[in-house]
Amino acid sequence: MSTVKAKSDEVSAEAARRRTFAVISHPDAGKSTLTEALAVQAAAISTAGAVHGKGDRAGVTSDWMEMERSRGISITSSVLRFDYHDALLNLLDTPGHADFSEDTYRVLSAVDGAVMLLDSAKGLEAQTLKLFDVCKHGNVPIITFVNKWDRPGREPLELLDEIEQRIGLHAAPLNWPVGVAGDFRGLISRADGSFTKFIPAPGGGRAQAVRMSAEDAAAELGDLWETAVEELTLLTEIGAELDMEAYTGGISTPVLFGAALPQFGVSALLDALETYAPPPAARPDAKGEPRPVEAPFSGQVFKVQAGMDKAHRDSLAFIRVCSGRFERGMTLTMGSTGRGLVTKHAQTVFGRDRTTVDTAYPGDVVGLPNTHGLTVGESLYDGPAVTYPPIPAFAPEHFMVCRAKDVGKYKQFRRGIEQLDSEGAVQVLRSDVRGDQAPVLAAVGPLQFEVVAHRMEHEFNSPVVLTTMDFNECRMTDAASAEQLAKMRGVEVFTRSLTGDLLALFTDKWRLRAIEREYPDLKIEQMLAAG
Ligand code: GDP
Repeated sequence: MSTVKAKSDEVSAEAARRRTFAVISHPDAGKSTLTEALAVQAAAISTAGAVHGKGDRAGVTSDWMEMERSRGISITSSVLRFDYHDALLNLLDTPGHADFSEDTYRVLSAVDGAVMLLDSAKGLEAQTLKLFDVCKHGNVPIITFVNKWDRPGREPLELLDEIEQRIGLHAAPLNWPVGVAGDFRGLISRADGSFTKFIPAPGGGRAQAVRMSAEDAAAELGDLWETAVEELTLLTEIGAELDMEAYTGGISTPVLFGAALPQFGVSALLDALETYAPPPAARPDAKGEPRPVEAPFSGQVFKVQAGMDKAHRDSLAFIRVCSGRFERGMTLTMGSTGRGLVTKHAQTVFGRDRTTVDTAYPGDVVGLPNTHGLTVGESLYDGPAVTYPPIPAFAPEHFMVCRAKDVGKYKQFRRGIEQLDSEGAVQVLRSDVRGDQAPVLAAVGPLQFEVVAHRMEHEFNSPVVLTTMDFNECRMTDAASAEQLAKMRGVEVFTRSLTGDLLALFTDKWRLRAIEREYPDLKIEQMLAAG
């Protein structure tokens, strides 16, 4: 066998065993708890017995600045990786706070699947719905985990109905709970009809899971068992079976019930990820041509994060490997400029911990430190050139003018603003009218401004003054329309620094609607909604 063929076989095999996914949920649904439970259970079951990432909470939750700690929110995201049987799971963490949803959206562009985590008492909540929309937009298939089943919650059939009615996903349960709200007894596997009894640990902690035959369970549970069996019959009658094509096509979602805190039903979720979640596949380039996973190395920057390590004040570009084998030290080409990029300091990032990475395969995430030229969306490759489609920017809803407090520090000011822009921490808008001294910052959530102010002062040594602007709506436009819009009252036109996109800001939606009505030929395009 030739070495080229051997390498391509190795890449296909490695890609095929990877599952790269994120958990989408509303704050408090149990994302951190589930993440920890997945890592712990995978480690207990894994044949290799290795948890590469830290399973403990401190390792899972990233905290890189005081602000984050004082607010108790997670702003950055990192990667957790664990073996499960022969599969290798890459779990990309996402920030929990709604204001950083843009960051979450970028992470979702780097995964092949998602777990939608619901609180059994609450069902679909605001943040889950928004994140679901992003998954739908990016064709990311979803497995649903209904959490906190050990506590009183809603009826399972009612929750399935809510999923169908509100987000249009056909729900296909893989297991089914036995017991009534507040008196949970266990789960029936729909695949083989077996029952796993839930025995809560006194004083909390990990519950015992005892496998029982259907006969024994029926004898022990009586009416509760009967009810569950009737519900299962109903599910079969309405055709709530998993259809792989419908799942990967975003029409259907496999649903699992469980409880992350007592770690019950979590191994069934690991099984579902291993069995059903899609491995990395050929990724279409900007022209729609798919680049096979076995092709020479290519990847895309989906996130740039600075200030993660206080001691070093460095930045890290996160790259999702799309094809080929990454080898530390290889020189890659940057798609936008054709310039070379040396990768001798490549790292993997697990929570706060970083280690050197020597090789990586499709589905993996590689961190490259201090690569200041790299911006979100950049394509990197070895061998034949490839440009991946840009990661969509989300419609900002908050706008502020930013000036250096000390005009003598303009150099620091400019460097800071450029860095924050390239990271996507905030969108930077410019116009000839306003000049470079006072760019407009556009954010999806107002907390982003706090991050900017904090970092400009502490990291770039240029405190800033932020002034609110009276604009609430933002649309994309083109050069011809921009010229006309710029002359109108209640409108201002900007160029987005990072992409060159022309954006028109409107004072409010009434002004916007009036202009749309009066000038139907103008190009006024909705951006991907985030808020
Ligand atoms: P996140 O904000 O989504 O990361 O949520 P957390 O993982 O911090 O969980 C929020 C709260 O719900 C915490 O108090 C958890 O202990 C609790 N919790 C999470 N999963 C479960 C569960 O399965 N059962 C119960 N009873 N509580 C849970």
